Amino acid sequence: MSITDKVPDYIRRIVPYVPGKPIDEVEREYGIQGSAKLASNENPLGPSPKALAALREHLEELHLYPDGDCFHLRHALAARLNVAPERLVFGNGSNELIDLAVRTFLRPGDEALMSRGSFVAYGLALAAMGAAVRTVPLKDYGFDLESMAQAMTPETRCVFLANPNNPTGTIYRRPEWEDFLERVGPDVLVVADEAYFEYANDPDYPDSLRYHREDRSLLTLRTFSKAYGLAGLRVGYGIAHPEIVAVMNQVREPFNVNAAAQWAATAALDDAAHLQRSIEVNRQGLTYLTEELTARGVEWVPSHANFILVRTGDPARVYEELLRRGVIVRPVGPEFPEHVRVTVGTAGENRRFLDALSEIQAGDGGAG
Ligand SMILES: *Cc1c(COP(=O)(O)O)cnc(C)c1O
Repeated sequence: MSITDKVPDYIRRIVPYVPGKPIDEVEREYGIQGSAKLASNENPLGPSPKALAALREHLEELHLYPDGDCFHLRHALAARLNVAPERLVFGNGSNELIDLAVRTFLRPGDEALMSRGSFVAYGLALAAMGAAVRTVPLKDYGFDLESMAQAMTPETRCVFLANPNNPTGTIYRRPEWEDFLERVGPDVLVVADEAYFEYANDPDYPDSLRYHREDRSLLTLRTFSKAYGLAGLRVGYGIAHPEIVAVMNQVREPFNVNAAAQWAATAALDDAAHLQRSIEVNRQGLTYLTEELTARGVEWVPSHANFILVRTGDPARVYEELLRRGVIVRPVGPEFPEHVRVTVGTAGENRRFLDALSEIQAGDGGAG
């Protein structure tokens, strides 16, 4: 009857990603102005001034296709990370690289492993491929790497880990990670998604880059969307063995990273001061939020990232009530029936969230 009848069931079953509500939309719907978006883990300080300058400088070149190889960004980043340039693969956000990894290494019916209560993009990419997905629950809001290792079968082709995890902000530490890696064979792609790498400062946080080896199929993913403040431009990168990168490049769309993203990311890499400021503002914001939440008797999950999972109870209503007050947070779905996720904002935004939450809880007549 129609081409859509030919779409396989595994595609029909996909529930599309629901992004954080855009500021514009909230302000239109609620007739308010000046709302605070604490919903998508964006950098509250904005982009690096150096990135903005680079964009202005190159605008006249926008009629040209981007460099499909990301030459300048590749070499700048390779030098920064101290890895060979051929170990880097770039994406339209690291989200595209999640998709690219799945399209490159999995076929319909292939087995993949992930955790419930982790980043939803993994499940979406796997669902679109028709992969057979096994999921393991979180334990105390963090990855249960022991159970994940046990859940692996000889058919498992790929495992998705996020460190820090989104939406919980938790990390797994060196001993569990090393033990896990020892139990994974080279025919399983381990994706270590480190979108919040720059914020993690626990002494036992394992930088997955240090664990790349010839006989390991490890893909580290990072992004310019979070600490680097360039979410709107869409640029992320993967680090892996050159053979892994080479096959991903065979599947990759040739101009997947736009020119503006390449100019801005290359310049942002050079702005250590902005990055440091961003990390510092986040550290202070997290401390402030957690102290104030505790003082109000509200529970939260210790975070190593730029957001925090807060146990407000009744997240659908709290979300809605916060929206009315111009504060946009993120409900995080059925895995977390009592929590909302709140991005750490500027000091003013954090205060605004706390004030609005107090107001809502006072309205409940509860003690908080
Ligand atoms: C935000 C996020 C990403 C990716 O974002 P991009 O903007 O596509 O680079 C990837 N993984 C996790 C866990 C994230 O939270």
